[in-house]
Amino acid sequence: MFYQDNSPTYPILLPASAAPFPARQLIRASHFSTALSNRPQSWRGTLETLWASLDKDRKPARHPEGADPKKYLPALSGAIYEPGQTRGKSNVSGLQLLILDVDNAMEVPAGEYHPSGRPKLAKVRIECPATIADFREPLSRQGIAAYLYSTWSSTEQWPRFRAVIPLAVPVPADYWPNLVAWTLTKANLLRWTRCIDLPCVQDVARLNFLPAQRPGGPQVERCIIPGDLLVPPEPAELLLHGVLKRELAPWQVQALEETLPVCPAVRSGKCSFAKRFRTRDGQPVDVRRLDVIRILVNLGCSVGPGRPWGPCTKYRTTCPWHSEHTNGLDDDSAVLFVEPGRWPRWHCSHACHAHLGLVDILETAGFQS
Ligand SMILES: [Zn+2]
Repeated sequence: MFYQDNSPTYPILLPASAAPFPARQLIRASHFSTALSNRPQSWRGTLETLWASLDKDRKPARHPEGADPKKYLPALSGAIYEPGQTRGKSNVSGLQLLILDVDNAMEVPAGEYHPSGRPKLAKVRIECPATIADFREPLSRQGIAAYLYSTWSSTEQWPRFRAVIPLAVPVPADYWPNLVAWTLTKANLLRWTRCIDLPCVQDVARLNFLPAQRPGGPQVERCIIPGDLLVPPEPAELLLHGVLKRELAPWQVQALEETLPVCPAVRSGKCSFAKRFRTRDGQPVDVRRLDVIRILVNLGCSVGPGRPWGPCTKYRTTCPWHSEHTNGLDDDSAVLFVEPGRWPRWHCSHACHAHLGLVDILETAGFQS
C-alpha cells in the first residue's frame, strides 16, 4: 500500500518559486484499496514519498474468478476529501495532483445499437499515438516535476500511460477543467490533446490505477522528470483559459447534422432549436423559461444543488442515458447551466455523449420539433 506518512501536519508552504526547499512541500491526495472502493484514504506527503510509492509494481487484490483483475488494483486520485466522506464529485474540496490519462484511444460505432437507436461504441487506437518520450521532453524543458508510467493495458503497439503532475497548492474542484487547459498550455502539451482522455482527466473524482504489470504484458515503463512543483495561478486567471473540448468524432458530427441544422460557429445544433420546439398540443415553447430541472427529474435524473457560476447557476446532474456509458456508470457527470432570460445548456461529460445536448433531453421528454 501507500507509504505511511507519520510526519506532523504542516501547512502548505509557499509556492515553489518562493520556497527554499520546494521538494519538501507537502502534497495532498487520496488513494483507494481497489476501483470498487468508494472510501478514500487521505494521503499527505512529500514529492519523494509520492515518487517512492509509484516506484513499486502493485498486484490486484484477491478477486472472484472471471472478474477483471485490473479493477482490484489500488488506485490513486488527485482529489482531497474531508474525513468520513465517500468518493463523489460533489465531495471533492480540491485537487493537488493532475493525472493525465494518455490512452491514445477514440470511440467509434461498433455496429450495434442501444435501445435508444444510438450506436454502441468501441475504443480503437488513434493514429500516431503519443509515447512517454513525447511527454518527457516538453515537461523537462519547462522544469515541471512529473512521474510517467505505462499502465496495465499498455502494449508496444498501443502505448497507454499516466503522467502524474503534483501542484504546489490545491486547486478548487470547480476550476479543475480550467486547470487542465492551463497546464497543457504551460507544459507545451496541447498538440497531444487528442491522445488524452480529457473527460477522464477533467473528472475531479476519477481513480487512476497505480503502476502494475499485466500478467504476460510488458514491464512497466517509468520516467521521473526532475523539476519544481507546478504553481497554479489564481482561480480568476484560470477561468481565462477556458476548458478544452475533445473534438467530436465524425459520426458524432453526423449525428448532430442529421437531427438539427448545425451552428457552424460552435459546431452544435443547440443554437437553433429554440423556436422549433412545441408542446404535444402544438403550442410553441419558450425554451428560456423551461423548468429543465423538473424535466430532468421526470426523466429519472438526480439534480444536485445549484451553485453560482458567473451569470449562471450550475447544477450537476446524472445522465438519462447512463446505461450507454462505459460500464453503465450512473454518476453526476452531466451539468446544467441556467441563466435568466437565456436558453439553458446541458451536456454530459462522457465522451460517448459529447454530441448530446438539451435538444435530446427535450425530445426524450416528449417535446416535438
Ligand atoms: Zn451521458
